[in-house]
Amino acid sequence: ATPTSIMVGTGRAAELGVLFRQGEALQSLKEIGVVALDKTGTLTKGRPDLTDFVTANGFIETDALRLVAAVEARSEHPIAQAIVAAAERQSITLPATDSFEAVPGFGVSATVKGRKVDVGADRFMQKLGLDVAVFADTAARLGSEGKSPLYAAIDGRLAAIIAVADPIKDSTPEAIAALHALGLKVAMITGDNRKTAEAIARRIGIDEVVAEVLPEGKVEVVKRLRQTHGRIAFVGDGINDAPALAEADIGIAIGTGTDIAIESADVVLMSGDVRGVVNAIGLSKATIRNIG
Ligand code: ADP
Ligand code: MG
Repeated sequence: ATPTSIMVGTGRAAELGVLFRQGEALQSLKEIGVVALDKTGTLTKGRPDLTDFVTANGFIETDALRLVAAVEARSEHPIAQAIVAAAERQSITLPATDSFEAVPGFGVSATVKGRKVDVGADRFMQKLGLDVAVFADTAARLGSEGKSPLYAAIDGRLAAIIAVADPIKDSTPEAIAALHALGLKVAMITGDNRKTAEAIARRIGIDEVVAEVLPEGKVEVVKRLRQTHGRIAFVGDGINDAPALAEADIGIAIGTGTDIAIESADVVLMSGDVRGVVNAIGLSKATIRNIG
């Protein structure tokens, strides 16, 4: 494309809320074979609600929720906000916490009123040497409903299984269908539970799901998808997504996401609407056609 057609293309893109931070991206975007998207905050709203709280024998729901929410009040994870909001709805007052610790991709721990409280994914419980088998059926049901199960332990005993559900953005199904219409493979990469990820993927028409990916693992997934499907665009919003955005042939950040994601990207979608990805590809094709 000529410099003029690129200027026209990036100008037109800006009108559509698509910011090309790299002029080259406008040319290379049309050559991709696969679009991989982060789940939480990209395909979903990133604002989950607590939907289920099931205690193990010997634990009382209000007491367990009080301890769990006290720990989560120290975390900035969207899951944490869902749990704290649920406690607030029940007018539960949260006690102070000591020795708070967050383990990215796993969960959080703290001491509350002298009791040790751990909250996180099943792999976090495994790390702590706790067996979550008593909740296997419940976890499978929650996952098949597209909810994300997590677990709480109190004083080293499994105390509850908790589920949060993150609504899919209204624009997501249409965006995926449009990417398919362009002949592209569409993949989803997430740290979330496999069953949950598969249920959501089925609902929105994703071809390939890579779940239970640790924060530092997304880069490897991008490399692997490139080997299978060719040049790759990765779309994400979070701190965790920054290395994958840099690794992808085209990194596309959601403008409502974190600064570090935006700084690592070639293209920024000014709104949270993933149909911006489709617009960006369309503009790339139109600009190349204008070679005159
Ligand atoms: P995601 O993009 O799915 O949010 P993360 O890497 O942030 O991925 O977290 C992966 C998993 O670790 C979450 O799905 C959850 O099970 C667990 N986790 C992380 N942070 C917390 C937290 N503050 N409270 C409970 N669970 C957490
Ligand atoms: Mg995200």
